[in-house]
Amino acid sequence: MNFQLLLRRRGIVDHAVLKAMDEVPREDFVEPITRDDAYADVALPIACGQTISQPFVVAYMTEQLQLRRYHRVLEIGTGSGYQAAVLSHLAAEVVTVERYRTLADRARLRLRRLARDNVEVLTADGFDLPDELGLFDRVMVTAAMEEVPESLKERLTKDGVLLAPVGPDGGVQVLMRIRRRAPDSAADSASQGFATEELLEVRFVPALKGIARQL
Ligand code: SAH
Repeated sequence: MNFQLLLRRRGIVDHAVLKAMDEVPREDFVEPITRDDAYADVALPIACGQTISQPFVVAYMTEQLQLRRYHRVLEIGTGSGYQAAVLSHLAAEVVTVERYRTLADRARLRLRRLARDNVEVLTADGFDLPDELGLFDRVMVTAAMEEVPESLKERLTKDGVLLAPVGPDGGVQVLMRIRRRAPDSAADSASQGFATEELLEVRFVPALKGIARQL
């Protein structure tokens, strides 16, 4: 089935998101051995025991992130670099971090070949990011976290949105959307300035602390 049609049937409606999904060749992000399945709606194995997410989940998370062209976006969990490539079509700047150097290096190369010049790939631990990275309008976590660390929420600008799969390793997680409220909002004291919604059940590989020792 045609890739866009498949995503539309699954309920993706945002034209800009559908266009971005069409513009990024997923076959360039999967392992050669799985290339025949590049446009099937399945997650596929990549190096370092990780996975490239299912296209529907990539499109859904991108849609739910509510991107604007001027946004500065952080992704935690570069993996193949596919999600970062999709984000780069819809935002001004994407910083993506990966704890495996091998995956980060390969993703950087692919993104460079595709001239995605507004993406920066860093080998770094999403739980311990350098302060210099600054604040982001949008944050997308693509690995399962048992809870979202305060330090990550504090990376959001006012009205900033963070998406993360929250739940136990190996089980089902709930995709959570966390929005940073304006500082003078009345609900501030109760919610510490963040509004949280549950979106969808998802399954991601776990977020692990530290840069991977294995390459
Ligand atoms: N977004 C990716 C798929 C993500 S798979 C894509 O489009 O292909 C999840 C990735 O998160 C894995 O590559 C894993 O190594 C990485 N990861 C897990 N914990 C991390 C952490 N603390 N910091 C950075 N990356 C992490």
